[in-house]
Amino acid sequence: MAILANKVAIITGGSTGIGYAAATLFAKEGAAVVVAARRQKELNDLADSINASGGQALALAGDVGDEAFAKALVETALTHFGGLDIAFNNAAILGAMGPVPEMSQSEWNHVIQTNLTSAFLAAKYQLPAMAARKGGSLIFTSTFVGYTAGMPGMAAYAASKAGLVGLTQVLASEHGPQNIRVNALLPGGTDTPAGREFANTPETLAFVQNLHALKRMATPDEIAQSALYLASDASSFTTGSAMLVDGGVSINRV
Ligand code: NAP
Repeated sequence: MAILANKVAIITGGSTGIGYAAATLFAKEGAAVVVAARRQKELNDLADSINASGGQALALAGDVGDEAFAKALVETALTHFGGLDIAFNNAAILGAMGPVPEMSQSEWNHVIQTNLTSAFLAAKYQLPAMAARKGGSLIFTSTFVGYTAGMPGMAAYAASKAGLVGLTQVLASEHGPQNIRVNALLPGGTDTPAGREFANTPETLAFVQNLHALKRMATPDEIAQSALYLASDASSFTTGSAMLVDGGVSINRV
């Protein structure tokens, strides 16, 4: 039987990168998926491709920092697929890069709203829907940046992503009695449009690859496989964790 048979999942950041790979994988493993991002056409193409290969997908475009959108995603899962078991809250931006003295408050706020407040809003509506099913798995995509490594120029991104680890721990302890598991997934450098935004020349790509013990970036599918683990019953005793899937970037000293 498929690993996620009869499960319903929300996946944000589905239009590209890790979210796209996870939506495709979760659907292949039997989940009905609601995919979200801002770009409608990319989402529609993803949903069409899942539906054409025998899966079940619905696309909803919007901004994860918007409370009405967080609510609408859960309502879509309930209305169209009858419930919610899994949420992979994965959408994020790198946002403003550079030293803090040169960063405006609005740039800072935008990153925190998109990457961290969105997680609060997602959890606010996803947790009651999971409780109604007597369990679930909530996953936030964090990163090693701000957790095991301080990377210059990434203050807002690092703070927003480290905040997700704190949120994960509190939600895991609050909702463990309801059989809802909450985990943070911490990828290393991954070959996606966002990864390439950072590693955008042969020199910076080689630099990023060399930071990892494995001397390469992850493929989006490798990170999606780890999200699948956290989403599935294979991780039934894992909650409150910050799971590094980082090719050894955290332990490597070059
Ligand atoms: P990506 O290719 O840039 O994808 C980001 C996704 O988030 C896109 O689907 C984007 O879609 C969506 N998104 C961005 N802002 C949004 C908003 N306000 N509302 C709704 N959707 C929004 O990035 P990725 O590399 O796959 O990253 C996925 C996650 O992994 C992120 O949380 C990232 O921080 C984390 N991560 C990535 C790396 C890496 O090296 N790539 C490493 C560690 C952690 P639209 O543009 O269509 O909205």
